This record gives sequence, structure tokens and C-alpha cells, in this order.
Amino acid sequence: MTVSDQLHEALEMLRESGVRITPQRHAVLEFLIQSEKHPTADDIYKALEGKFPNMSVATVYNNLRVFREIGLVRELTYGDSSSRFDCNTSDHYHVICDKCGKIVDFHYPSLEEVESIAEQITGFDVSHHRMEVYGTCDSCKPVTSH
Ligand SMILES: [Zn+2]
Ligand SMILES: [Zn+2]
Repeated sequence: MTVSDQLHEALEMLRESGVRITPQRHAVLEFLIQSEKHPTADDIYKALEGKFPNMSVATVYNNLRVFREIGLVRELTYGDSSSRFDCNTSDHYHVICDKCGKIVDFHYPSLEEVESIAEQITGFDVSHHRMEVYGTCDSCKPVTSH
């Protein structure tokens, strides 16, 4: 799906949920869809403040909260203070760079077996699981001379 298809679909979802589409909201959504880097609210704010001088980080947060409530984005928390936002809501895993914090999507068959085994062993009603893979990304790897 292209970025503009994805944006079109997201706007459609907003409309169906009765969410008013302001120019800021539109811009935040577009930035999220274009960005493959799982931006924080602050990243989004910095990218758009030139275009919307009246916008604050709080406005960005409010928009993100609206998007999250209707299922357009997922909020990711990885122990640091700032949440990151992911508009890829399909099942996927993340590999995270230890050095720069970059998060990259990758697909791997969902580990559903882990959930059913956890249920069998503990009797919990398992709702979901999280798995992250850590390492050093391409741009943070020390440059090796060949
Ligand atoms: Zn890195
Ligand atoms: Zn992701």
C-alpha cells in the first residue's frame, strides 16, 4: 500500500469515527504514515512546528491519543520516558538499536504458541505478548575497512 493510499484510508477511518480533520491532525497523520522510524510526539512536534507555529507538544499528544483510541496508531513504550508511535497496526515485531534507539519493523510468524503455553501453565487469560530484539543498527555499526 502506498503512503497516499494509507493516508486516504486513515482519513476515512477518522471520518467514520466522527473525528474532525483539522489541518494539524492531517499533518500529524501524514508525518506518522511517512515516517518509518516510530517517532515520539516530540519528533513529530519538531518536524511540524515550522508549518504550525501555534502547535504545541500537547496538541500533538492529543492528536496521537485520538488516533490511538480509534486504532490508527499503536503506542510503544520501551522503558525510556517517551512513547513512540507506530501506525503499522498489523502484527509485527521490532528490532531496536542499543545505540541510537532506532526501531525497525520486521515480520516473523506471531509466537502464538507462547501465549497458549503460558495459559496452560499459569491459568492466565493471556491477552498479548511483547518481544523485542536488540542490537546495533547499520548506521551505528563501527565502520570497518575492507
Ligand atoms: Zn543505531
Ligand atoms: Zn512497528
